[in-house]
Order: sequence, then C-alpha cells, then structure tokens
Amino acid sequence: MIPEETTREWQQQDAQHHLHPFSDSGALAEEGSRIITRAHGVHVWDSEGRQYLDAFAGLWCVNLGYGRQELVDAATRQMQELPYYNLFFKTSNPPVVALSKALAEIAPPHINHTFFTGSGSESNDTVLRMVRRYWDLKGQPSRKTIIGRENGYHGSTVAGASLGGMKPMHEQGDLPIPGIEHICQPYWYGEGGDMTPAEFGLHAAKALEEKILEVGAKNVAAFIAEPIQGAGGIIIPPDTYWPEIQRIVKQYDLLLIVDEVICGFGRTGEWFGSDYFGLEPDFMPIAKGLSSGYLPIGGVMVSDRVADVFKAEGKDFFHGFTYSGHPVCAAVALENLRILREERIVEKVKHETAPYLQEKWQSLSDHPLVGEARGVGMLAAIELVKNKKTRTRYFSEDSSEGTGKVGTICRDEALKIGLILRATGDTMLVSPPLVIEKDEIDELVRLTRKALDATLVHLS
Ligand code: PMP
Repeated sequence: MIPEETTREWQQQDAQHHLHPFSDSGALAEEGSRIITRAHGVHVWDSEGRQYLDAFAGLWCVNLGYGRQELVDAATRQMQELPYYNLFFKTSNPPVVALSKALAEIAPPHINHTFFTGSGSESNDTVLRMVRRYWDLKGQPSRKTIIGRENGYHGSTVAGASLGGMKPMHEQGDLPIPGIEHICQPYWYGEGGDMTPAEFGLHAAKALEEKILEVGAKNVAAFIAEPIQGAGGIIIPPDTYWPEIQRIVKQYDLLLIVDEVICGFGRTGEWFGSDYFGLEPDFMPIAKGLSSGYLPIGGVMVSDRVADVFKAEGKDFFHGFTYSGHPVCAAVALENLRILREERIVEKVKHETAPYLQEKWQSLSDHPLVGEARGVGMLAAIELVKNKKTRTRYFSEDSSEGTGKVGTICRDEALKIGLILRATGDTMLVSPPLVIEKDEIDELVRLTRKALDATLVHLS
C-alpha cells in the first residue's frame, strides 16, 4: 500500500518539474496527475490502489498486455551481453539481424528490409528523407511533395506533425513545413453528408487525384496514410476507398507510405493493416506494437523496389540515430514477435476475440447517445450524438462548450468506474491489448455502457 502522502508528494513534484506531452501542464499542475504505479495483463493500478481496465493498451501499444516475464528476461540477457552498440561504421548486432529477418518473414512478400528508429515519429521523419532521396536517385528530383490527409496522425516531430493533418498541431510551430499537402479524410460518419459510404469513399479517394493534378504529377513524391486513422478517431475508410487510392497511386507512379504504427502487429487481426486492406506499400513506418511498448523502438519497412535503389547507389545515406536498432530494444521486439507467432495471437484475434469484441461493441448502438458503433479487429469506436438521424452533436464546434465536451465527460466517467477509454472529440475509442479475453471484453463493454449512462445524466 502506497501512503497517501507519497501520492501527494509525487503529484507536487510532477507539477513543479514535469511538462507533460499533449497536456495543459498548468491546469494539470492544479489538478494533480494520476500516478500509475503498476500493471498486469489488461489492468493498470494507480498510486491510490485503484484498478483500471486499460482498454487503450497504454497508447495503442501494449499488444501482449502487461507483465510478460519473457520480455523482461530478454532485456536482462541483452543488457548483460551487449547493452549498447551502434549500427553506424559498418557494424550490426545479433538482435538487430534476427529482428530484421523476422520482420521480413511476417511482412508482405515484397517488403524485406527495415531501417530502425526509436519511435513512430522518427520513422516518419525517416520516411520523408528516404522518399526524397529515392526520387533524387531515380533522376526525378522535382518529385518532392508528399500528400497526407487532414486529421491524419504521423507523429509529433517536425516532419511527423507536418505529414499529419492535425490543425491544432500545425498552429503551434508554423507547420506544415513546405512540400507537404493535405487532402480530406475518408470519414463518412463526420463528413459524408448525404452520400452513401461507397460514394463518399470514392469521393475522398478522388481528392488525391485532384491534388496530384493541382501540384503537378512530376512534383509529387508520395502519398502517406494510416490504413485506419487511429488518433483521428478510428476512422475506417469505406470499402471503395483504398482500391481507388491504389489505382491513383499506380497511375501517377507515386510511392505509397502506409503508416502501420497502430495497425501493425495484429491490431486488425492481420499482421499489418496493409494485409487487411490488400495494400502494396513502398514504406511501412512501424513502432508501438513492435515491442508491445516495453521498450522504445520503431522502424521503416522498405519495399524491394526502394531498397534496391538505395543499395545500388554506391554512396552513404546520411541519416540515422544513436539508438537506431538499440540491441536491448531489438531483443525485446524479437521476443515480442516470437510470442505473437508461437502463441498464434494474431490468429486468435482474427478468429475469436476480435469478432467477439465487435459483436458486443455493436450492442452499444441502442444507447441513446450512440450514433454509430464501428470497429475492425481490436479497434473500436462509438460516436456520441444528440440526434442519431441527423448525426448532430450536442455542442457545435463554435459553441462555448465545443465538440469534445461530451467525449471528455464520458472519458472522465469511465475513469471513475475503472475503465480507460480515449476520447477524440465526441468519439470514444478503444484499442485493448490483443490478449484480452472474452470475460474481460464483457467487462469492457459493460463499463462503457455504464459510462455512457452517467454521461447522459450530465446532459439531461
Ligand atoms: N503514426 C501513427 C499512426 C501513430 O498513431 C503515432 C503515435 N500515436 C505515431 C505515428 C507516432 O509515434 P510515436 O508517438 O512513437 O512517435
């Protein structure tokens, strides 16, 4: 039992010395942060002893759940053997070699190389440099522009935030940097108006072609997208979207970057989101589930078409990080992949637990606040609305409350009853550990309904 004064001390020191990511640190200092002290399976506990079902797997990353001793042992062994060495200057190390091979084995057949980074953001910074380098090497240096999507998320570094389409991020720091354009997102529920999902999917894909023609095909290097937008609100494109995007990408000879940072490593019930949608990416940025979040590691998986050009170049690619392919992180990632494969976790998600989650999740549709319940694999969302028919929110964007108020209430009500949900605006998101069992899914859905009931009380 942690004494109450200790929690207060931690909160005070946190308030005095720690600036939090994606937070109003001033307001948080007043309120006091929640101190998470331990975790096991799909649960975490705070310093006051409260247990939470972590329906968000940390930040979409703890795919194997908490407390896997094998990952601890892999880190310990590697720390003792070789705690650090770099990959510059013609060197490699055994965990990185083995991890590169294991990744090639699970990736789509045309992807056989990985460049390692420390995070998803670094992976997308790396992609930007690789894409431009590729076109230079191909003798088409005018191909510089990368097209992303509004409300897409590709990280928080300068390139990551620029490739992403989060307006509040762009407003802080004069982003995006030059050479990056954005098109609309395939968010039928929020932006599809009177169109059917199929019509809207085509419409949203055609925006790519329009942008290519506007910028000039000879100036466009690549298109970047998440298979399913995560942070934007678990936005699952209509079925018509990805086939049309692939047609356009091929027709104009663009490179396709499919950001697998969330969808990779089993989240959709396939190894990669690209497998789920049948995509042929040239680059797959990865992170998060690669190590189940136990240690920071990311990478860019690269198609043969691109890797061959880099390998034939005969010159250094001047890019890399001190912690590219850190041996301890690589050893943990390798062990994480071994467990995912040997315990057939992705198959279990696909055939057993994800269909169960999705069926139970749909049962929330009858709640008065729920305009849509949707999901794929171990990703699911609900839209909170005032009027289901017109898809109208409780508070409009320009009202004093603004959209997001209802989502925030629901998230806070969920926390009170021991459930961690995430809110993006008035959309509630879940992305539980892949190892969640059926009885835990029952609990997740039961608590979500309870949080919805409590939210409704606030609104009436
Ligand atoms: N891409 C996607 C799709 C993400 O969801 C995230 C993180 N949420 C990132 C990139 C950035 O990853 P990181 O936070 O590890 O830098």
